Amino acid sequence: MSLKLSDYRTKVPPTTQWCPGCGDFGILSALSQALFELNIEPHRVVIFSGIGCSGRFPHYIRTYGVHTLHGRPLPAALGTKLANPHLEVIAVSGDGDGYGIGAGHFSNAGRRNIDVTYLLFNNEVYGMTRGQPSPTLKLNMKTKAMAFPNINDGVNPIAWALSCGYTFVARGYAYDTRHLKEIIKKAIIHKGAAVVDILQPCVTYNDIHTKEWYEWIIDSERNMKRLYKLEETGYDYKVKDPTNEEEVIRKKSQAFEKSYEWGDRIPIGIFYQIEISTYEERISQRYKEYFTKPPALQEIEDPVTKSPKKDISKLLESLTV
Ligand code: SF4
Ligand code: MG
Repeated sequence: MSLKLSDYRTKVPPTTQWCPGCGDFGILSALSQALFELNIEPHRVVIFSGIGCSGRFPHYIRTYGVHTLHGRPLPAALGTKLANPHLEVIAVSGDGDGYGIGAGHFSNAGRRNIDVTYLLFNNEVYGMTRGQPSPTLKLNMKTKAMAFPNINDGVNPIAWALSCGYTFVARGYAYDTRHLKEIIKKAIIHKGAAVVDILQPCVTYNDIHTKEWYEWIIDSERNMKRLYKLEETGYDYKVKDPTNEEEVIRKKSQAFEKSYEWGDRIPIGIFYQIEISTYEERISQRYKEYFTKPPALQEIEDPVTKSPKKDISKLLESLTV
């Protein structure tokens, strides 16, 4: 039976729903289309979320889904991928969940390079708890729920991801679903840890960085688009030869530089990509059967006697110090 886009739609409505017009709907549409176009059947996909509006994401899509704890979708996603590397594993977080509460996980996942896709819904506020400033809201910005302008500065997700070692780093825009879908497809195909920071207007609490703000600058002198696509400027994000240190530094430096462009012009698209060995490949060098017999696919008990199939006493012995 051939796959249909509607196969990703669930008939069960989430108990708590996103506000009408929320950017999250654009991300849902882009991811569903990406999975469909890549012909990845729903039963091969697991989506992990944390807490916040983005946490409801797995409730909106018909794949396997796990709604975890605040800031914890990444460790659950990484553990699942390592247990069964044949699954398509995707983690989703809001900016508070991923860049705040889950910040330690964000940093460490980059240097491991496990083959998962991490989508971050960046709306600069904690939407679910009524609009407090999140880690991405910049200094002196003030949204409607704040009594005073932001006393903290915001993090730069792209520069942070680059310095952690993520091997695919991109930024998308929730209302440009066609463009976002193409980025997500490339992130899923990418062999390694992929991060996509998604500018996701919160129509209820972020009254400064709205759809109109992202899309146009209109004043007496200008009528131009604020968001622009890196690929339309000839920007070359991909490291062709990962063994060429000079090229790696050059491509990473240009991505860092681009990541600080914010204001009148904001780039979206892929900032950086490099293909190096994944964590799973490194494990398979130590355990030759890792890909054919990963932990989740091993039989652990005799189906009839129910006794353990493996004697792990030797393993435990070898780990004793
Ligand atoms: Fe979306 Fe904001 Fe509503 Fe949350 S509060 S569902 S982010 S519009
Ligand atoms: Mg948020």
